[in-house]
Amino acid sequence: MSGIYLHIPFCNSKCIYCGFYSVVGQKYKEAFIPALKREIFGRRDFFTRNLSEGNFSSHDEKLHTLYIGGGTPSVLDISLLKEAVGCIKDTFSFPLEAFSSAVSPDIFEFTVEVNPDDVTPEYAHELMNLGVNRVSMGVQSFEDKHLSWMRRRHTSEQAVEAFRILRDAGFNNISLDLIFGYASLTDDEWMHNLEKTVSLSPEHISAYQMMLDEGTPLERLEEKRSYMPPEEEICAAQYAMLQSVLKDAGYIQYEVSNFAAKKVMDGKETLLYSRHNSNYWNRTPYLGLGPGAHSFDGKNREWNLPDVAEYCSSDICDFREGEILSETDEFNETVMLGLRRTEGVEFSGLNPNLLNKISDVINRLVEDGSLEMVYEESDDDVQVASAVAKGIKIPPEKLFVSDGIIRELFILNFII
Ligand code: SF4
Repeated sequence: MSGIYLHIPFCNSKCIYCGFYSVVGQKYKEAFIPALKREIFGRRDFFTRNLSEGNFSSHDEKLHTLYIGGGTPSVLDISLLKEAVGCIKDTFSFPLEAFSSAVSPDIFEFTVEVNPDDVTPEYAHELMNLGVNRVSMGVQSFEDKHLSWMRRRHTSEQAVEAFRILRDAGFNNISLDLIFGYASLTDDEWMHNLEKTVSLSPEHISAYQMMLDEGTPLERLEEKRSYMPPEEEICAAQYAMLQSVLKDAGYIQYEVSNFAAKKVMDGKETLLYSRHNSNYWNRTPYLGLGPGAHSFDGKNREWNLPDVAEYCSSDICDFREGEILSETDEFNETVMLGLRRTEGVEFSGLNPNLLNKISDVINRLVEDGSLEMVYEESDDDVQVASAVAKGIKIPPEKLFVSDGIIRELFILNFII
């Protein structure tokens, strides 16, 4: 169930906290598509080659997700976006039903990220016609003063209107992004954001704590002492509010920052989690296209350099760097990505010798409540004492400190 990620490296302006690679302005927008086509052509055998080299199994051969992110895909003229999608469609092998907005995400999930200020009825219809069946919209807040501090280009009202436009166009799988944990956000305001979000009934909600990413305006403000991040306890309390409000509203938390609703689709109840992002956490192969995009071939990782000028002018073959993952890297990655998911990580997917090395740490973390053992599902109400655990997970109340818990489980290369 592999996927393709396409990075559109353009934004109309830079948000204060954003560490994603993008450039502002019109330059390179026209040159980007021919460069992208060159890259698509150069990568046309990515999946077949890695399958034949045994990097992944035939189960992962079929492409089931396409995710267009950025940057801001919605700042790219729709005709250019169509050209890019057309080229991807003609080059790679997708299920027959793909590229129809009506198709279930279990068969094919096609997501495009949008910003509320770009969403018009015409644009929403064009996305539908392109076969997009999931839209992810960066709302971040419903407080105008916070949106303007973040240097977002939309207002709260525009976000609500954009959501209505997407619904009217027929989108039945919409994800909204929110941010918490910044200095001026009070608990009451956060509660208002959560309630407002829930009142729109999106199928999916992602909520991230504001971080001081390297090279961002926010980091520079912090260096000058013009911005002080809130205390961890405040952020932890806001994270707990997030979990509680969304749980009460019927959302299922399936990852540290992600919550999905259940909906009846094609006659069956379907959890509308992000299939594409789940590929990252499951270590399923994916191909990243565009400057700054990362790829995973089932064994190793590589990434395009984040430089659109170079991307548009250079031979794509020289444009990538990569890393060969050692057994230890693979182990650490599987633990780290798996424990971000609420279902946790299964022991069967881990190298048994390396797992053995951290068994004492696991037992200690289980004892102090930072980890829980996961058992095979059984009809018995009570778990029998002799049952063998199949994996570990982080309990919901500890997910806020998951990074620290995961770090304790890492195996450092030098002790192997
Ligand atoms: S948050 Fe989105 S819109 Fe803002 S700068 Fe980053 S990529 Fe662009």
